[in-house]
Amino acid sequence: MESNVISHASGAVSNDFGRALCVITGASKGFGRCLAKQIAALLSPGSALVLVARSGDKLRELQTDLAASDAGKKGLVIRCVTADLAQKEAVEETMKAAKQTNHLDIDRLILINNAASLGDVSRFAVSFTDPTETSSYLAFNVSSALSLTASLMDAFPKRPGLRRYVVNVSSLAALKPIPSWVLYCTGKAARDMMFRVLAAEEPELRVLNYAPGPLDTDMHLQARTDSGDLAVQSSMRDSHTQGQVLTCEESGTKLLKLLLEDNFTSGGHLDFYDV
Ligand code: NDP
Repeated sequence: MESNVISHASGAVSNDFGRALCVITGASKGFGRCLAKQIAALLSPGSALVLVARSGDKLRELQTDLAASDAGKKGLVIRCVTADLAQKEAVEETMKAAKQTNHLDIDRLILINNAASLGDVSRFAVSFTDPTETSSYLAFNVSSALSLTASLMDAFPKRPGLRRYVVNVSSLAALKPIPSWVLYCTGKAARDMMFRVLAAEEPELRVLNYAPGPLDTDMHLQARTDSGDLAVQSSMRDSHTQGQVLTCEESGTKLLKLLLEDNFTSGGHLDFYDV
């Protein structure tokens, strides 16, 4: 039976996110860093951005760039959380930073669950005999996303005038088995289902599983270099050589358009190539 997903056709399309609190995990590089810049440009004065990753130096560099941008000059509050989301404390630290922002009169709450890792893609499923390895992968890639989402929704409950958005940065790997990517495919499939359940339970929330397409980032480099399945490795290398890999800006623009138009089906899985 299909979940009771709902569509919020909101009428007029917004040009920006208004006064918002936006939390982005994995903001130090790649897609998350790009999204931070793109979203910052669409926030009204008094908004806040919470950026999470392990590399504090890269987050602070981004914070400096954003502070010097038009968004920064308009009084955007930017907080960096240097933390490893595989650890329980990381969610607590992120929540502390989010609560410290002046959030009382925000119109939107946006959480982008973007941080993820590929895991060891050099090996095949039959080699994953040690359950601690799998548990540790899932602790970061699945558990922390649920825990952060639940904590943030609890701290910023529904109220009139507040629109709450949760994005799960998903992948084709959530739907398609890819040889030698057992951890990644499992994690992405679990995350998609987690957010589908959330959407079914909380009809007021706007939940989107967005698969950004192949992106020219460190994760893509790891996939095309280390994949144990040689057919996967060479097809990724070919698509990179042939210029079929997207820039983060291209994919980020599409995600933000989906959020601004706000008529996606909550809990649905949308791929860059489908919209
Ligand atoms: P990158 O590897 O380039 O960036 C990953 C980000 O996650 C970094 O900011 C990294 O920061 C952060 N991160 C990694 N581990 C942790 C951790 N333990 N705690 C906190 N933060 C962490 O990946 P992409 O930008 O390519 O990927 C972004 C999203 O897009 C991911 O969800 C990915 O699965 C998805 N995706 C990517 C595709 C691609 O082709 N690149 C295709 C489809 C989906 P730091 O190291 O500083 O902690």
